[in-house]
Amino acid sequence: METPFLKVEIPTTFKDHPGVFSAALYTKIHQCNLNCYQCHNRHYFKGEEEFFTEKELREKLKMLKLLGVELVIVSGGEPTLEDRLEEGLRVIKEENFPVRVDTNGTCPERVEKLIKNRLIDGLAVDVKIPLLDDYTPDQLKRFMRILFSREDLEPSAVYNYSKKLRITIEIIKRYTLPYTIFRTVKYPLLTESEIELIRKELKSFPHQVNPFYPVEE
Ligand code: SF4
Repeated sequence: METPFLKVEIPTTFKDHPGVFSAALYTKIHQCNLNCYQCHNRHYFKGEEEFFTEKELREKLKMLKLLGVELVIVSGGEPTLEDRLEEGLRVIKEENFPVRVDTNGTCPERVEKLIKNRLIDGLAVDVKIPLLDDYTPDQLKRFMRILFSREDLEPSAVYNYSKKLRITIEIIKRYTLPYTIFRTVKYPLLTESEIELIRKELKSFPHQVNPFYPVEE
């Protein structure tokens, strides 16, 4: 059986989930409903998409266990858009790893299902803009650029993002997931006061504000 995880080298790090030795698997890199400003994953991954078979994945996971990996992180693309995500997560859980799924937070229903089915132990949710009821025309322009790399969409695109993210946050509040973290990239298109608003919104969660690194051509 083919898994939903790309057959690429599996990076390990202490940085991705601070202080925890973790390994990352990737769903389809180009499968995402956002097109963020200078998305690194899309920019750097150009190869053919090949996937681990279940046998290969189990072998890799056993090896990671021997290396002392404590957490498997599933990134993408947007993993919650992957039809076969649950099948892949089951394999990871059967190999006795806790799992964190990285998400842009726009699919709250899928997130809740994963939690209810006990397939994940945490989420890394990117909150890219302040989640407000009203945005100024200038904010709409800048936030469209952050979320979609263009400025000519309907304002509803930004409002819809904000609404979905708030639902996702409300869902996460109802559960205790030890590996949950929120993240914000300090895009040059965000002002300091907007970053402060995001911080306030997420004050009851672990929240990292990460530096912005432009993609290198
Ligand atoms: S949500 Fe993530 S994968 Fe999708 S476009 Fe944005 S940065 Fe890239």
